[in-house]
Amino acid sequence: MRILIVEDEKRLADILHKGLEEEGYAVDVAYNGEDGLFMAQNEPSDLIVLDIMLPIVDGMIILTTIRKSGVKTPVLLLTARDSVMDKVSGLDSGADDYLTKPFLFEELLARIRALLRRNSEIRTSTIEIADLVLAMDTHEVRRQGSLIPLSAREYALLEFLALHKNKVQSRTELTEHLYDYHFDLDSNVIDVFINRLRNKIDSDFEQKLIVTVRGAGYMLKD
Ligand code: CA
Repeated sequence: MRILIVEDEKRLADILHKGLEEEGYAVDVAYNGEDGLFMAQNEPSDLIVLDIMLPIVDGMIILTTIRKSGVKTPVLLLTARDSVMDKVSGLDSGADDYLTKPFLFEELLARIRALLRRNSEIRTSTIEIADLVLAMDTHEVRRQGSLIPLSAREYALLEFLALHKNKVQSRTELTEHLYDYHFDLDSNVIDVFINRLRNKIDSDFEQKLIVTVRGAGYMLKD
């Protein structure tokens, strides 16, 4: 999953960037409202963490502008002011949730997971595909009950496929949602990660869950 952070407090933006990457998310950062608006409209993000008080273009203007232009990406607003008016106008303008600064990183993570889940058909924090179980809050993956250790990147790819189970995802879609703006889209890195996942998830089991659809991409099928 790919997250855009629009935050002008560089230190906070960098902490969030690092923390979210460690959780396996692909992260883009805009340090001002103008870049934030451009990236929110042009990059295929799965979620936007948007500060309200921003130089050049205010967060509320970004929010109303992208909603008017049809961008439906979930938006989590960050507000420094614990003001009821801010929250009400933020939610009225199309934000999906808000968090008042200062906040705990764990709380941000929990809300991000909830918003990403809300946008998929998955309603619980556990996804089951045949005998494969993903626990989205702990990132634990088990097959027939045995724990399968995965790297953050491997988990992110598996989770994305799981959230869209039984639907083919192209290499481009996977790359766009799992890597940030600075990543070279032509790389075959997705194939490399799929092979690693196959070795860990499928090789010891008769039922193969990771399916290659020729000319189209990959899917996780139960
Ligand atoms: Ca700010």
